[in-house]
Amino acid sequence: MIEQARQQLQHYFGYPSFRPGQEQVISHAMNKQNTLAVMPTGGGKSICYQIPGMVMDGTAIIISPLISLMKDQVDALTALGVPATYINSSLSNEEQRQRLQDMKRNRYSFVYVAPERFDSGFFLQAIQSIKLSLIAFDEAHCISQWGHDFRPSYRSIVPTLNKLNNLPVVMALTATATTEVITDIQRLIHVQDDAVVNTGFARNNLAFRIVKGQDKRDFLSRYVKERSSESGIIYAATRKDVDYIHQFLIRKGFQAGKYHAGLNELERKQAQNDFIQDKTTIMVATNAFGMGIDKSNVRYVLHYAVPMNIESYYQEAGRAGRDGEPSECILLFSGQDVGLQKYLIEQSEMAEDKKAVEYEKLQAMVNYCHTHRCLQEYILDYFHDQTEREVCGKCSNCQYEGEKEDMTKEAQMVLSCVKRMGERFGAGMTAKVLKGSSDKRVKEFRFDQLSTYGLMGQYTEKEISSFIHFLTAEDLLNPGQGKFPSLQLTPKSLEVLTGKRNVWMKVEATHTV
Ligand code: ADP
Repeated sequence: MIEQARQQLQHYFGYPSFRPGQEQVISHAMNKQNTLAVMPTGGGKSICYQIPGMVMDGTAIIISPLISLMKDQVDALTALGVPATYINSSLSNEEQRQRLQDMKRNRYSFVYVAPERFDSGFFLQAIQSIKLSLIAFDEAHCISQWGHDFRPSYRSIVPTLNKLNNLPVVMALTATATTEVITDIQRLIHVQDDAVVNTGFARNNLAFRIVKGQDKRDFLSRYVKERSSESGIIYAATRKDVDYIHQFLIRKGFQAGKYHAGLNELERKQAQNDFIQDKTTIMVATNAFGMGIDKSNVRYVLHYAVPMNIESYYQEAGRAGRDGEPSECILLFSGQDVGLQKYLIEQSEMAEDKKAVEYEKLQAMVNYCHTHRCLQEYILDYFHDQTEREVCGKCSNCQYEGEKEDMTKEAQMVLSCVKRMGERFGAGMTAKVLKGSSDKRVKEFRFDQLSTYGLMGQYTEKEISSFIHFLTAEDLLNPGQGKFPSLQLTPKSLEVLTGKRNVWMKVEATHTV
């Protein structure tokens, strides 16, 4: 059967061989074994369900939250001579009815729908009355409440599916899934361990860079000027920032478009089309932009502010270089942005336990900005990516050629201070004590009596906090959990305190410790 799949790959798509993972996913599906594919962006997930859908009898239902992508996918299949359609709210009621009728007459090999379609009795009745080849969940991380983009409408499909008596095989595909999300998806749609195909997340053509301690605007204008002929996305945290950066670039004479939820649909569509068709080279946007944008030649993604979590960061940054060509992912770091993100979590309507998870995720994001390890590796470790790999050799940490300084003594100061404060306080308070601050709270807790009080007086509080984040990123301190996380020592910290381990830091960073 896989031979037939290979022929289809050659015949319809003109590709001589499968990419890593594709063949396994396809054979699980064709053997009617529910399967979960975790592959990086640009890894070729569509083909994983398109080929079984072409080879097997019946209609394949593809569930996707990305209405904007459905049309492109359907057009592409139609152009190959494969009967396909989509049914979603962008169509008139009449058109939806017509397509549903055609689906019932088995006219289509593929029908793309948004999750909400499963709320419609007509639709459910229609899929029960036909022969199905497979059901595929694209962007499957949206099913899991542990995913960063949980959609209840997606999850509520699961019990409905379980009631179908003509359910053939279910496929789930995603580019972003932590171990928790993978387990959750497995449990929900009954995927056996051997049918999880995880090719790892590494994007070998991407070079990650962290930029700290520079004027963001200056950096931005220099950066985009050097790349004036290349396409890039600039992500900002708020609509106001998008408007501001966009204005700034326009005034400097760059061809930039903007995109955020405050613009009307027409404006957004126009901006998006101009960018996709290379009429504008730069897109300044909030995170509202990107889901479902299939532009392969984006050469850089620059984050003007620190995002909420690694999941969103990797997904947004991953919009660079889908064509496999070398591309850059830059993150401009400032401590203030972290404050904004904390505020956003605090203000949100999430339940307290969910907030705690979000704080923890934000902390991992902050650690990313402070680590001295390979950045790609840091991200892969975050996702518990177990696939074989080496350091990337391209990120700003791998490329660092400067000297490193021995910061063991300073690290010992911080660690012993954390210990003396009872491992009950966060970075801010610890920095105050080490600085020797006369803050009221420091006095209240009598921390001015500690032997570590004022021990790092020559640094600013901000520098000390940043050093603490570095220690956290290196796993020399545990950042703690919740809204007011308290730092705790780790097994590695004990090695530092007892002089068994030294702490090295880039010289560039020690100047801004
Ligand atoms: P994803 O959904 O995983 O981000 P896509 O399915 O959009 O990725 O595929 C990305 C690109 O890779 C597409 O242009 C697709 O045609 C191409 N592609 C997929 N499979 C193969 C293959 N086996 N050989 C060569 N190119 C492939």
